[in-house]
Amino acid sequence: MPNRPPFRRVLLKLSGEAFSDPEVKGGIDPNVVSQVAKEIAELQASDGTEIGIVVGGGNIFRGNSPAAAGMDRSSADHMGMLGTVINALALQDAVEKAGLETRVQTAIDMQAIAEPYIRRRAVRHLEKGRVVIFAAGLGAPYFTTDTTAAQRALEVDADAILKGTGVDGVYDADPRTNPNARRYEQIDFLSALNQRLGVMDATAISLCMDNDLPIVVFELLEAGNIRRVVRGEPVGTLVHVPAGATP
Ligand code: UDP
Repeated sequence: MPNRPPFRRVLLKLSGEAFSDPEVKGGIDPNVVSQVAKEIAELQASDGTEIGIVVGGGNIFRGNSPAAAGMDRSSADHMGMLGTVINALALQDAVEKAGLETRVQTAIDMQAIAEPYIRRRAVRHLEKGRVVIFAAGLGAPYFTTDTTAAQRALEVDADAILKGTGVDGVYDADPRTNPNARRYEQIDFLSALNQRLGVMDATAISLCMDNDLPIVVFELLEAGNIRRVVRGEPVGTLVHVPAGATP
């Protein structure tokens, strides 16, 4: 696939698992967080890319996990959203140590810790080169941070969602268990949805599809990868509306 033009403003989606040691799973590993922060700082310094980040919370708590069994779902989801704030503060610290200015904005007001989410203010921060970390999801239960990433990316007019994962793209089968699994260089939204390829949840994919917002799924911890994706190199899998097709 030929290189595409570079992205100018991106929304990076970091799942909770991006905060923990891949072997340990769960909790926060400062080394992993600082590696991601350094990659972000390098990208900003070299390319001037405007970077918003939506953080997940699965390393801490998920509203639909066994740990929440028997709980009221909305309360459990509130716990999940608070988990994302913990990750956001860890990431903020690491990105600032890497030399960038940051702001955390939360969808649930907690002004002693972070700014409330205000779209215009978020855009202004991005224009000034600050990394904006969006936490507490959408502030509403029954949603995910993938859907939050789609929503925030649309609101701040990002060129794409960069979804960093543990594998190097989207496959037609699980590459960890099936040696014949093939990676897609690109795939359209409907195929990703219909084949349940696990790119993001259906609500998030639908929102991206309806608004022609591309997603690049790539391996987060491969050094230099975030920059390669932003520069348009053929890394990972591009999920998009193919040219000529109507969204
Ligand atoms: N969550 C929510 N509303 C949102 C975003 C997140 O209720 O808008 C809750 C939900 O319980 C979810 C948890 O926060 O399980 C953590 O988010 P997510 O599972 O998306 O994190 P990730 O899988 O990216 O680590």
